[in-house]
Amino acid sequence: MLIDRFQRPIEYIRLSVTDRCDLRCVYCMPKSFKDFAEPDEWLTFDEIERVIGAFAALGVKRVRLTGGEPLVRRDLPELAGRLGRLPGVEDLSLSTNAMQLAKHAEAIKSAGVHRINVSLDSLNADTFRDTTRGGRLDKVIDGLMAAKLAGLNPIKINMVAMRGVNEHEIPDMVDFCIEHGFTLRLIETMPVGDSGRDAGDHYLDLQRVRADLGKRFDLITSVTGGVMPGGGPARYVQIAGTDTRIGFITPISQHFCETCNRVRLSVEGTLYLCLGQNDRFELRPLLRAGIDDDGLKAAILEAIDLKPERHEFREEPDKIVRFMSLTGG
Ligand code: SAM
Ligand code: SF4
Repeated sequence: MLIDRFQRPIEYIRLSVTDRCDLRCVYCMPKSFKDFAEPDEWLTFDEIERVIGAFAALGVKRVRLTGGEPLVRRDLPELAGRLGRLPGVEDLSLSTNAMQLAKHAEAIKSAGVHRINVSLDSLNADTFRDTTRGGRLDKVIDGLMAAKLAGLNPIKINMVAMRGVNEHEIPDMVDFCIEHGFTLRLIETMPVGDSGRDAGDHYLDLQRVRADLGKRFDLITSVTGGVMPGGGPARYVQIAGTDTRIGFITPISQHFCETCNRVRLSVEGTLYLCLGQNDRFELRPLLRAGIDDDGLKAAILEAIDLKPERHEFREEPDKIVRFMSLTGG
């Protein structure tokens, strides 16, 4: 098992399969951003399979495909199938904006992706178009329904909560999730890249949102305080009388670094050890220089040693220059 310097087991890798995207969400990427990695800098499917295989051999069980928008990488289902078959990989998931999900849901499910997270900040077509700079709500809804039909489960809705933008829509989103059997996760904006920092003007403290929702819905907190053992950073409540859960991801108002179990691999083969720090390790040069499997595992161990104790989004909000689309959220 991979254990970092702070005794945290690392059992989860987020793999950004592309830094490109068919949307430009206001908190993620600048409107006219074009500085993408070139195709010869992208890890090939063979290279990705080797890296994830090495992580799995070292005890990483969970892999999430993300981006940019992962569905814009050609032949993604093929890659998903290859990764899902690797010994040790127990859980393969996908984060998507769902703009192209309707046509890919079936293939993704057949390839071994069981569960998905879909970014959806608004159920109002105009607000959705504005926050995503051009997104079509109807396509996302079609994608969600296709995912449900394909049997992807659970489906989690990721909603970045923004004061003055979609705050008033949170109860409607809860109702939408109850109606369709989705889990809702509310996320605080993070100062990652200039776009993330600008979105900080709309920062909404989710502790307050949670209190407000408690006045409207009967919320049940589990004995673990809503923390899922081995799970992600969300703290969950359940809505009484339903199976619906709401998760609160609060990197700013209540950070969860002490339980961080993950690392991130960019499409260029850079391993990022923390979303809120610049510590990184370059794997692509090693792969292209012909490193063997033992060497690759040794390099990963070396990289894990670089994982910092915590982010400093509050103390040093200007630190992270790269955009969220590079590391996949
Ligand atoms: N394109 C896919 C999507 O939107 O789900 C996957 C990549 S996206 C970078 C992953 C997640 O990061 C999304 O849920 C998005 O809302 C979130 N995200 C992006 N920038 C953020 C920011 N500055 N603060 C908080 N969350 C952010
Ligand atoms: Fe694209 Fe996802 Fe970033 Fe939005 S959050 S611009 S959909 S990568």
